[in-house]
Amino acid sequence: MSGFTYNITPRTEKPELPTTLGFGQYFTDHIFEMDYSPEQGWHNMVFRPLANFSMHPATMFIHYGQAAFEGLKAFRQNSGDIVLFRPDKHFERLNNSSRRLCMPDVDINLVTEALKELVKIDKDWIPSKAGESLYIRPFLFGTDAVLGVKPSKNFKFVLLLSPVGAYYPEGFKPVKILIQDEYVRAVRKGLGECKTPGNYAASLLGAEIAKQEGYTQVLWLDAIELKNIEEVGTMNIFVAFKDEVVTPQLTGGILSGITRMSVIQILKDRGYNVRERVLSVDEFIQRYNAGEVTDVFGTGTAAIITSVGELKYKDTIMPINNGQVGELAQSLFTYLIGLHMGNEVDRHNWLQLVEAGR
Ligand SMILES: *Cc1c(COP(=O)(O)O)cnc(C)c1O
Repeated sequence: MSGFTYNITPRTEKPELPTTLGFGQYFTDHIFEMDYSPEQGWHNMVFRPLANFSMHPATMFIHYGQAAFEGLKAFRQNSGDIVLFRPDKHFERLNNSSRRLCMPDVDINLVTEALKELVKIDKDWIPSKAGESLYIRPFLFGTDAVLGVKPSKNFKFVLLLSPVGAYYPEGFKPVKILIQDEYVRAVRKGLGECKTPGNYAASLLGAEIAKQEGYTQVLWLDAIELKNIEEVGTMNIFVAFKDEVVTPQLTGGILSGITRMSVIQILKDRGYNVRERVLSVDEFIQRYNAGEVTDVFGTGTAAIITSVGELKYKDTIMPINNGQVGELAQSLFTYLIGLHMGNEVDRHNWLQLVEAGR
């Protein structure tokens, strides 16, 4: 179908999944890849065994970072059904990242079809406990071997699969986050809203410094005034005040998270006053001191919901909920895992079936 080529190695035995999967450490046996050229568009669509790439040392993306990626998940539900969470939104966002980086769009129907096919080929690798999943990493990059700084003409697109464990193997515990006012991650009108390698390279040093101080992640401020709260390393941020739940608006400097979008909808469904708006650190601190902050949490595909138990800004340490998991964060986490596992009604059709269980 769809001009796919199958170069797959049949498996004689079921793969034995390690008991501690962690995140992104193990990979399934196969990948999907296709190539782009200006003459042929996307072509060479093939499912093949996982193997190293061979590339010219001048390959463009290695030098100039013309690349974009996504991160989404497939789940094996309690019924045995295999489902994907909002693949359409993830591939739309990939195309948005690509356009900003002078890279070609992918056909969303075609790559979704290829993804479902690849997940079926490697379905024995999908873990099935609550919180576990098959993490999917679609990515594309410029492959021309030229050292001049200009857009590549040729590209490669890949789907890579990695079985991952529950993000919180020891239970859902709050993390400590440092508000970083020394370094910035990305800037609006720059690549801030793209899932592109450079943004993560820019975030490493600030995150390492935070780790040395005992903080798990960094909360980034806007890159222009270092005044407004933007997002965490790989998560969007939500602050629940007594009368509203606020998440920073999409200014172009932060990633438009699919989990963020989903959580906004869930909160609206529950009747919360959810607002996407500018939230300055000053406002946060002032309302924190007034006792109005009831919960702080991050949202992202990898961890789903992350409870924040402490924020530090300059010399001020601000415990949230006495360092305990907040009620709202807990209920969103439980609800989303339930939705993934098929225990909740999928009222907005966020799940797409890959294969029905028996
Ligand atoms: C991926 C990512 C997020 C979360 O996006 P989801 O679509 O919810 O996974 C947030 N911020 C950054 C910087 C990210 O890379």
